[in-house]
Amino acid sequence: MFKEKDFDEEQKIKPSVPLSKIKFFEFDCPNCEANNPMNDGFKHEDELVCLYCGLEYKVKTVSENKFKLIPI
Ligand SMILES: [Zn+2]
Repeated sequence: MFKEKDFDEEQKIKPSVPLSKIKFFEFDCPNCEANNPMNDGFKHEDELVCLYCGLEYKVKTVSENKFKLIPI
């Protein structure tokens, strides 16, 4: 899942706002690939549950428009 190339790119990204201020409003489940819209939004360190397969993830914000989901 984690390629060396991706890791290098992340090291160079420096968000202009704190990670906790960046909000997202939908995510694609890494397990079942379902798209989950989140009306209330979510942010760094929030915990999400896929509405389709029920797996839980923790949000790791990478940049203003990119985040990762770590299975809990
Ligand atoms: Zn899912």
